[in-house]
Amino acid sequence: METIISYIDENNIDIEELKKHAKLLKEGKTVIFPTETVYGLGANALDEKAVSKIYEAKGRPSDNPLIVHINNITKVYDLAENISDKAKLVMEKFWPGPLTVILKKKSIVPNKTTGGLESVAIRVPSNKIALKLLELCDTPISAPSANISGRPSPTKGSHVIEEMNKRVNGIVVGGKSDFGLESTVIDFTGKVPIILRPGVISKEDLEKVIGKIEIDKSLLIKKDTVKPKSPGMKYTHYSPSADVFIVSGNNIFENVNNLIKENQKRNLKSGVICKSENKNLYTGEVIELGDTPLDIGSNLFDALIEMDKRNVDIIYAEEFGYEGVYQAIMNRLLKASGYKVLKF
Ligand code: AMP
Ligand code: MG
Repeated sequence: METIISYIDENNIDIEELKKHAKLLKEGKTVIFPTETVYGLGANALDEKAVSKIYEAKGRPSDNPLIVHINNITKVYDLAENISDKAKLVMEKFWPGPLTVILKKKSIVPNKTTGGLESVAIRVPSNKIALKLLELCDTPISAPSANISGRPSPTKGSHVIEEMNKRVNGIVVGGKSDFGLESTVIDFTGKVPIILRPGVISKEDLEKVIGKIEIDKSLLIKKDTVKPKSPGMKYTHYSPSADVFIVSGNNIFENVNNLIKENQKRNLKSGVICKSENKNLYTGEVIELGDTPLDIGSNLFDALIEMDKRNVDIIYAEEFGYEGVYQAIMNRLLKASGYKVLKF
């Protein structure tokens, strides 16, 4: 498959270039584009055939529903019904931005888009290229993260070109994703709103606007008795080829450096993912993520992908904490590690 690749500056958008990709989307083809969360792999959300191409390009299980992207809050009413006042408040407050709402779907939304569910996931992104593309193609666009299913989500143009070139019809490269973590997903179809996926917009941020909400219990622990509510949550995710371990407890630096020495004896290359303030305390391939939660979140997937490029066999990732944005970061890391935590 031939892939049209365009480099677009978010602050000086070349409309004619972007129109090529809007045309592809209108024709029922697939286009990867930047958003403020991660790069998305888009196709016309109302066209079943187009949507099938997303699942095919990603190797995504067909019961894992897609997020529908629109460029204006008013378009929600075309796609969903029974929209509660709380859902409206949240959309008005956080859109455009990294928040996805789950609402009861209207029949115009094909079952393919929602993985057979009666609900639909919707979001207005804030990235200017994404918004312009949505405006130009004038149709809702389904766009999951633009990675092969199970791999870390792409946050840079180089990630999508390396992994998805020739698998999609278009790629719009537009710089590094601002947040680097997928949107917060909140479900409004039940009695109490519930977070199905943590993101940069935290439970606390949402509770300030609509009061008490719940968070799905399977998000930070893996117990076979806790059944995930969102289909996507049951699949392996964000995994680099290297084996990932989260490290926590006492004397972390000493313990990790000892493990690295042991690995070396067995000819295994070790990597460490850590806060910048700790970068000189480890041996092995060290990738620092920054010191604030937003920096750590925005660099996380890039670090996992980079470790694979450096042929690292085993990655040790610091346990950063579980408050606010760290909840989203640890959710991704726990999944990437297959919930392997080394407690010293
Ligand atoms: P991705 O598109 O890769 O960012 O993943 C989208 C996430 O949203 C997955 O975890 C999906 O399971 C979840 N999702 C999408 N639509 C729905 C829905 N109707 N109900 C519950 N979860 C959903
Ligand atoms: Mg994904």
